[in-house]
Amino acid sequence: MTFDLIIAGTGPAGLMTANRASGYGVKTLVLERRNSVTDSLMGELVTDNALRFLGVKPDSEFVGNKYSEIVGESLDTGANIRVGEGLLGNSYLLDEDKCQELMRDRAEANGAEFRYRSRVDSVIKEGNQIVGLRYNGDQEERAGLTVGADGSFSRVFKTAGFTHPKWLLSYGVRWKLENCKNIDPNVAYFYVGRDVGLGYLWLYPRSETEINLGIGRVPSSKVNWDALMPMQSVLKKYKDSHPETKNAKIAAVNAGVVPCAGIIPKFTDAGVALCGNAAGQVSSIVGGGVTTCFHAGTLLAKHAKRIVDENDFSAKSISQYEKEYRKTKLASNIKNTGEGMWAISKYAMFNDPIEAAEIVLSQLDAGTLNSLIQGHAGIGDYMALLTDFLPMVLKIGKGYLRSIAVSGL
Ligand SMILES: Cc1cc2nc3c(=O)[nH]c(=O)nc-3n(C[C@H](O)[C@H](O)[C@H](O)COP(=O)(O)OP(=O)(O)OC[C@H]3O[C@@H](n4cnc5c(N)ncnc54)[C@H](O)[C@@H]3O)c2cc1C
Repeated sequence: MTFDLIIAGTGPAGLMTANRASGYGVKTLVLERRNSVTDSLMGELVTDNALRFLGVKPDSEFVGNKYSEIVGESLDTGANIRVGEGLLGNSYLLDEDKCQELMRDRAEANGAEFRYRSRVDSVIKEGNQIVGLRYNGDQEERAGLTVGADGSFSRVFKTAGFTHPKWLLSYGVRWKLENCKNIDPNVAYFYVGRDVGLGYLWLYPRSETEINLGIGRVPSSKVNWDALMPMQSVLKKYKDSHPETKNAKIAAVNAGVVPCAGIIPKFTDAGVALCGNAAGQVSSIVGGGVTTCFHAGTLLAKHAKRIVDENDFSAKSISQYEKEYRKTKLASNIKNTGEGMWAISKYAMFNDPIEAAEIVLSQLDAGTLNSLIQGHAGIGDYMALLTDFLPMVLKIGKGYLRSIAVSGL
């Protein structure tokens, strides 16, 4: 066999797996349907963890900007919460293209092969064992370990027979704007509001004249979704109604989809493993997938080395990646936020999530909100919520109970 490992996809999950596995001497092939690793939406707002996984410094060319403050604000009422560096830790805006090229270059220097314009159709199965991938209709390549890092609509996931009983997607669009005016490059914004729906609009400055303006939204039901203004219209409305962006030029448009109901029940089997969006390894409430993909790819690469060394591609051997992954703190945060997001989506089917968001923005302190979003809220946070914000909890809780009753959650 020419390759030990075949990876479908060059998002952050596939690139990190290729980068690390090839570094361990694993013979790696990467198939990507696009023309290159760049010009895509890798995800850009990250904390120190992502830089550590990448092995780059905050002042390097791979980091486009750094924020000292993040503001959560209602587009409708202006109510806001300001989260400073002390609570947030460091927040960076990656230069996506440079980071993707870095991982590709490292992998190629280690001997990995990249094939572009290579659209994966299905896995190749021999009995219960996955032994490679079919792509571009009539081509195929075999390896002991096949990795599906091909995103939210993964062909590897589908054709290897994985399932996701709780599947909830967040849809996103991002504009890169140039020629903006009077932007404070130190402050990033998250906005909620009626036009946005169940999700948020974000503004990440790249400099005093350049920003990334995006929107991510979860459909709570078809009726609710159809009633909303289209996502690009929300961006246009924001752009046209703010003097800083009114005359800005749209330099690039990217769109993508992120799973946000947590990690899928099983993501390894004989000869195959999933990584990144394909496995639901995304921090659900904020839709953050870069660090979680780097983390999963790093772990998977370590196991790929062991699996190849032991020449054991059985389901049991590969499941050790899954077992170790599920024990990590990041995995437990994803699980908690996934359950939170699932509950919010059910709540939003029958209640007004924007009203709840307004209450949260006007009454909750930034520390508690941060803990809830990141999935590490402790019993103390919940007790504080119950005692200090009983009216709010009752209001949101009543709506939540109603949605449980109606939807049978
Ligand atoms: C609008 C938006 C903004 C975001 N912003 C952030 C952010 O600021 N910070 C953050 O942490 N996260 C962010 N995310 C989330 C993050 O981008 C994703 O979680 C992350 O990119 C997932 O990486 P992945 O490698 O699993 O999949 P993807 O990035 O989706 O990569 C999958 C790759 O597989 C390829 N592929 C797909 N199908 C096939 C096939 N059949 N054959 C061959 N190749 C295939 C695709 O072309 C792609 O290159 C954002 C997401 C969206 C949609």
